[in-house]
Amino acid sequence: MENRPPLTPATLYLVATPLGNLEDITFRAIRTLKECDLIAAEDTRRTGQLLAHFGIQKPLMSYFRFNEAKRSEEILERLARAEKIALVSDAGSPGISDPGLRVVQAAIRGGFRVEVVPGPCALVAALTGSGLDTDEFHFTGFLPHKSGQRRRMLENLLGTPGTVVLYESPYRIEKLLTELTDLVPARPVVLARELTKKFEEWLRGTPPQLLEQLKKRPAKGEFVVLIGPNEPPTTPESTPESSL
Ligand code: SAM
Repeated sequence: MENRPPLTPATLYLVATPLGNLEDITFRAIRTLKECDLIAAEDTRRTGQLLAHFGIQKPLMSYFRFNEAKRSEEILERLARAEKIALVSDAGSPGISDPGLRVVQAAIRGGFRVEVVPGPCALVAALTGSGLDTDEFHFTGFLPHKSGQRRRMLENLLGTPGTVVLYESPYRIEKLLTELTDLVPARPVVLARELTKKFEEWLRGTPPQLLEQLKKRPAKGEFVVLIGPNEPPTTPESTPESSL
């Protein structure tokens, strides 16, 4: 590959990493991880394994939900010393239902350069292959666990136009399908499971159909849940033949 300019000093690089299939790392992600001064990682052990796979040795700093404030300050001090810092999460794009936003906001406020090294993201991968409307969609990450809050949020989401995209744990997928069976039994739903991995699978159907499938074969692995928009009612006036 042709020579690229070196990384820019005093820059925070947001580096996307594979969702499961290590071939999905980009050339630029590898070069950024190789050339930065420090990698801030959600789980240093997990990122250590990724780095080992690509033969990269680099100092790591842990950066997760409960130390974000303190670590953001440390990262800012290092940016002020002109260091190049890469931020990664366990899988996919940092900041998307993952730690990252806090340090990005702090870096912007501090006048530092923020660059993105884009790549895998479960939301985009699932939407791309779902066959549901991709022009308009609403992503909300994980729903709250508390029943009342969860129900209210779900009702609001189902009232938005376009496709609704959610992340859900395998332990709550049946609960979610039961809620959807109650609220929108006829809407098209896609479960995108284990994307990019050996057991990648796409399950399509209405909420009660999918619930029945999962009762026969319990849910395992990682899921993105996509709920298609309401189908417009077909009236005799709207068919092309009737307008002839
Ligand atoms: N930052 C990540 C991204 O860019 O997609 C998401 C992190 S979030 C903590 C993890 C959730 O993403 C999982 O619970 C699941 O809903 C979804 N996810 C991650 N990897 C996935 C995969 N390989 N297949 C399906 N869903 C996945």
